[in-house]
Amino acid sequence: MRFDLISVFPEFFDVLKLSLVGKAREHGLLDIHAHNLRDWTTDPHRTVDDTPAGGGAGMVMRPDIWGKAIDTALRAGSGRQVLAIPTPSGTPLTQRACEDLSHADQVIVACGRYEGIDARVAQHYAGQAEVFEFSLGDYVLNGGEIAAVALVEAVGRLIPGVVGNAQSLVEESFSEAGLLEYPVYTRPEEWRGLTIPSVLTSGDHGAARRWRRDRALDRTVERRPEMIAALDAATLDKKDRRYLASLGYLVPKSAPHPERAEVRPASASDVPALVALAARTFPDACPPAMSPASIAAFINEHLSERAFAEYLADPHWVTTVLISGGRPAGYTLALLPEGNGVAGAEDGAPDGVVERDGPLVELSKVYVDRAYRGTGATAWLMDATLARLDEATSDYPRPVVWLGTNAGNRRAQHAYRKAGFEKVTTREFLVGEERNSDVVMARPLRVA
Ligand code: SAM
Repeated sequence: MRFDLISVFPEFFDVLKLSLVGKAREHGLLDIHAHNLRDWTTDPHRTVDDTPAGGGAGMVMRPDIWGKAIDTALRAGSGRQVLAIPTPSGTPLTQRACEDLSHADQVIVACGRYEGIDARVAQHYAGQAEVFEFSLGDYVLNGGEIAAVALVEAVGRLIPGVVGNAQSLVEESFSEAGLLEYPVYTRPEEWRGLTIPSVLTSGDHGAARRWRRDRALDRTVERRPEMIAALDAATLDKKDRRYLASLGYLVPKSAPHPERAEVRPASASDVPALVALAARTFPDACPPAMSPASIAAFINEHLSERAFAEYLADPHWVTTVLISGGRPAGYTLALLPEGNGVAGAEDGAPDGVVERDGPLVELSKVYVDRAYRGTGATAWLMDATLARLDEATSDYPRPVVWLGTNAGNRRAQHAYRKAGFEKVTTREFLVGEERNSDVVMARPLRVA
């Protein structure tokens, strides 16, 4: 691969004689040429700049001098030729861009100084080569040479043979996984009171791999959240998804990327979307024999816009919503009794069945949209709901929360058991006209 680096300070490029890039040049893998732009001037002062058209501070580099230099460089190469122009107003230089450039035959880098290069240079060459105006980052350097060196090194190391161990390219930050790299350690095992995380020295390679993956996710969430939002969901296994949920991202079924999610008290502006969600999810938990008319009647009475407005207005109702990708994806409705009384007595609250020294709270609804099941969303919503109920009953030593769930709904019972609920009794429950048998489950709100 050929690089032509054009600058008024070609000495800058002496660093490219060092290290891996230097070795790659010796081995003929990289063919790097540094040129002095002033070699294309004709005046005694070897002038490359002039005052800016339209006025203002500084000087602008002349297109005629650049044109001669770039023409010469283009003639020296062939195949896929790229003219790279460093500029703070360019597109950010990314690993993807470097991977793409590593397939070019020639990259010419036109390094600006002063106020930059006359804009017609990029415009003119767009007709005959690929023009890539790139930025090294959101800061201003004095010249494009550092950016050129960065580009040569980042692109050059992707050329097969330049980096000895090709595997080290696969696991890096911004590589296929789309994550920042995990933290790395080496001997000594203890240094200034700091030790290497024991999982890395345990010999358990599976655990070490998982630990690294989780740290890569941590770092990326903390430092580069936009990379999480761009992650390819197909590269995430179940453990990744669970871990991402603990970091505030959910990956619903068939979604291309993780979504930013949060659990919070529901507010009036959530109501229309909550009503739609409730209507969508309620039938999932009904016994198969229940008629559509009965389901509709229940929704109309308990899950309508008016009903939700009432829940929100009444301090006894605790309404919690899971928002993912900007939309409600799950919700819970819980009823607090007066003082240390019983909520849902008429619904079959297990009063007298469970031991308590505080209120008996009813967890009336726990619903999560289908696409979010198995993503960690339910556990997250449940934990947040229980924390809210715990806080609301903090005056009492041993409040208890109970719920009733369809006896045939094994999935729900399993999820509730995982959340610490145990079956305490059964109840008969009327939905519309039909009688249903429910399992009644309960758990202490506060687990010592
Ligand atoms: N007036 C220009 C602006 O505000 O965008 C800045 C010119 S800068 C002082 C001079 C040269 O440094 C640029 O032409 C470019 O070659 C190089 N340069 C400065 N910052 C850069 C960055 N963040 N990325 C790439 N090149 C940069």
